[in-house]
Amino acid sequence: MEIVRAHSMGFCFGVRDAIEIVRELGESGTPVFTLGAIVHNPQIAEQLEKVHVHVVEGLDDVPPGSLVAITAHGAPPDLEGRALARGLKVIDTTCPLVTRIQKTAADLVAQRYSVLVYGDPEHKEVQGIVAWSGGKAKVISSMGDLENWEPTRRVALISQSTSNIEKFVSLARDLVAAMVTRGVEVRVINTICKPTKERQRAVRELAREVDVVVAVGGRASANTRKLVQAAQEEGVPAYQVERLGDLQASWFAGAGRVGITAGASTPDSVIGQVEERIRSFEVGQPVMA
Ligand code: SF4
Repeated sequence: MEIVRAHSMGFCFGVRDAIEIVRELGESGTPVFTLGAIVHNPQIAEQLEKVHVHVVEGLDDVPPGSLVAITAHGAPPDLEGRALARGLKVIDTTCPLVTRIQKTAADLVAQRYSVLVYGDPEHKEVQGIVAWSGGKAKVISSMGDLENWEPTRRVALISQSTSNIEKFVSLARDLVAAMVTRGVEVRVINTICKPTKERQRAVRELAREVDVVVAVGGRASANTRKLVQAAQEEGVPAYQVERLGDLQASWFAGAGRVGITAGASTPDSVIGQVEERIRSFEVGQPVMA
């Protein structure tokens, strides 16, 4: 069985930089409280916890006077002020590409566009983008979400940074078709980030060359789910693996070539462990969870 890695996969610069900032602070003796997971990867979260980088749900959970970190996914524009008002210190690790989407949403609202955001309404990045639009942007996942929706004369479509590019393009086409017939101006801005585009393109190329694809990444990782989806759209079985115990030998029965990709928050060490475990299925080595 041959194992082939996607030519682009794993850590993106936004996640890597955010981790390094909080890790250095924690290791230097400054406890850091991150507002939500700094990274959707349990192995990294466990390592960070050991160096005093703790995940909290909100400002209420942060001890007075402590350092709170905004994650790479960003936060609403008023969050820093609310934290400072409570006597907390703030470090902002928002990815610059997320900052760009937030500013785009705010600018479009200022230019009187009705703003649509293609993404997951439950995702922190999307909630932050909506907050930067002053709560005016509408989150959609398909044209079905626009039933009974009355656009203004100008509509703009943007996206969560990690969306599936093919689905975004398809939605944009349908939106333009629906709005043009109503005399509405439509502006489409592709805000899917470059690392996401590169990884999605790479997993599609990989999927065409292998019998099965494994995408390594946390269950909460939106971009890892999109990699699985993209591989499946190419017609090959694809599975998401968070931990070694998720791997099943039956996935690889009869497979000549296995493709591996990884989400933007997956460290190389975990990818290496998964590769090694897949090889162990081939030679029938005992499996340890
Ligand atoms: S996935 Fe893209 S937007 Fe998100 S942190 Fe990485 S580089 Fe930034």
